[in-house]
Amino acid sequence: MFSNLKNVKNYTIGFIGLGIMGRPMALNLVKAGWHLLVFDINKDALNTLHRQGATVMNSPAELAAQCEMIISVLPDSPQVLEIAFGLNGLVHGIRPGCIFIDMSTIDVDTIIRIQEKFEKMGVDTLDAPVSGGEVGAEAGTLSVMVGGNRSAFERALPLFQVLGTKISHMGGSGSGQITKSCSQIATALTTQGVVEAFTLAKSAGVDLTKVREALLGGFAQSRALELTGAKMISRDFTPGFKLSLYSKDLRIARSAAAARKLNLPGLELVASEMGSLVRAGSGGLDFSALLQFFENNNNK
Ligand code: NAD
Repeated sequence: MFSNLKNVKNYTIGFIGLGIMGRPMALNLVKAGWHLLVFDINKDALNTLHRQGATVMNSPAELAAQCEMIISVLPDSPQVLEIAFGLNGLVHGIRPGCIFIDMSTIDVDTIIRIQEKFEKMGVDTLDAPVSGGEVGAEAGTLSVMVGGNRSAFERALPLFQVLGTKISHMGGSGSGQITKSCSQIATALTTQGVVEAFTLAKSAGVDLTKVREALLGGFAQSRALELTGAKMISRDFTPGFKLSLYSKDLRIARSAAAARKLNLPGLELVASEMGSLVRAGSGGLDFSALLQFFENNNNK
């Protein structure tokens, strides 16, 4: 066990998944002074981090053999399972005392499976999904929702404090992911409200920019109205947060609700709208493109 031998500031950190969220998060850790070992299947993503001083690894196994903490920010459960247990996965290099922190949004069952397997190897696992989007990742102002044992959480806290401003220990393994599902349900339904409001305003010939500004000064104020609403008005559907990933998050939330026999009709509605946009080929667009679903359905 090396965990008590060194200050966290001196740890070598592994970082896997350098996409829209992972790239700025990794850059913030580099800027804060950590030495990062990085891995991604996308060579361009690796080059960006390499130019900023990170060391590129050939596999998760090679990375794991040299790190005290490992962070992953990957699309979905299959990718996290692949880097953890696949050919050349973390399991083939990780050392007792290491902490594996998955910051992707994935199924609760998957993170618990990983936590149980790594625990047998003396490795702690934290589920630490985030909210705040690309803007929050770049600014280091994410909300980080953490599940897993408290002592591992406390050791990882200095890293979380670089990545976010609201850091919450929610409870045992999986509780971070349940909290993230709560966030996605609330955000999805708020976004649905913004889209319906804009559909009415546009149809009645009232200027959308003025509607957004007026609503931001009243009780309808929300981050969805402020940020996603601005993207809708400028019709800038470059991601941001891809519809395919939001749809995946709502699948995770639906399965968590179904496991508890809960009836959440708003969640069902938005999940079905996003699902149909993804099936129609719009999965790579930002989720603000939910607006298009209403435009198509209302012939506007
Ligand atoms: P992204 O698609 O932009 O990035 C994913 C990265 O993972 C890519 O660089 C890809 O090359 C890499 N990757 C995929 N499979 C891999 C593998 N097997 N091994 C190594 N690297 C692999 O996705 P994103 O928007 O950065 O989202 C990442 C996670 O964060 C998702 O779970 C998402 O739900 C969550 N999230 C995203 C946002 C957002 O606004 N984008 C906000 C909160 C949470």
